[in-house]
Amino acid sequence: MQLIDGKTIALGIRADIQQEIARLKIRPGLAAILVGENPASKIYVRNKRKACEEAGIYSMEHSLPEETSEADLLSLIRKLNDNPAIHGILVQLPLPKSLNERKILDAVAPQKDIDGFHYMNVGKLTANESGFYPCTPLGVIALLKATDVKIAGLHAVVVGRSNIVGKPTALLLLHENVTVTLCHSKTQDLPQICQQADILVAAIGKARFVTAEMVKEGAVVIDVGINRTEDGKLVGDVDFESVAKKASAITPVPGGVGPMTIAMLLGNTLQAAKWALSNG
Ligand code: NDP
Repeated sequence: MQLIDGKTIALGIRADIQQEIARLKIRPGLAAILVGENPASKIYVRNKRKACEEAGIYSMEHSLPEETSEADLLSLIRKLNDNPAIHGILVQLPLPKSLNERKILDAVAPQKDIDGFHYMNVGKLTANESGFYPCTPLGVIALLKATDVKIAGLHAVVVGRSNIVGKPTALLLLHENVTVTLCHSKTQDLPQICQQADILVAAIGKARFVTAEMVKEGAVVIDVGINRTEDGKLVGDVDFESVAKKASAITPVPGGVGPMTIAMLLGNTLQAAKWALSNG
């Protein structure tokens, strides 16, 4: 069984990005917008900013109060769209319920939309055209490519159909010529479908939901889930202990997909800066 070491793979990617930034002598800039006091979001933004600084990416943070109006947030995004020192804009989700998430995400200039959430980038992903794609799904693909398995032609089952993880992961797999089944909470006979997967991606948000009985012998298992158990432990959507005995390769949690998400964000920011450079 191969343990897919996302932490080490991500560090390698981050080192490559750092080197490329140094070689090109550029200073990519990322602006993170955080609205409200969600503790997990604060940690995510802090980690993303730290990773940026290490890679040579300038980062700024706008922490706004929970009661920020839509007009004020849109006005900030417009300013950042016009700021030539900023190449990537990240609006940390979830936003407070009072704000129209779709409207906010679509206000980010598509060429600065390093999370790949703008409609234009969603469309480009669907059409398999180059654009910014969401970071966690990009991380999933990069991890699969880091295994010895040739994924084209295989059958992947993705459990979870969210717009930020499950659905874009299914599309990226499809573009890699994988045959994809996308499952969700209304799927019938989920265990039986999962058993048919050569590649099983769990993006559900339920601790240790995927058990060994749901996994085919020799499958590659990618666990996107991040869940905290009652005793404070971080676990994935996959019951690692039992599934690892059946899988040919599996990601751990923590240390699997999580670090890759940040590495992909840095990569997208570098790409945005290079785009700005070549388009004056
Ligand atoms: P969402 O809650 O948006 O989506 C969960 C998906 O799982 C939904 O499509 C839902 O189906 C499906 N689902 C829920 N229960 C079941 C069930 N019993 N059987 C089958 N499908 C089910 O979560 P996200 O996609 O945002 O995140 C998923 C997980 O990934 C979370 O643990 C999150 O913390 C983690 N995550 C990790 C990241 C990383 O960097 N590693 C980044 C982002 C998320 P339906 O649509 O029918 O409701």
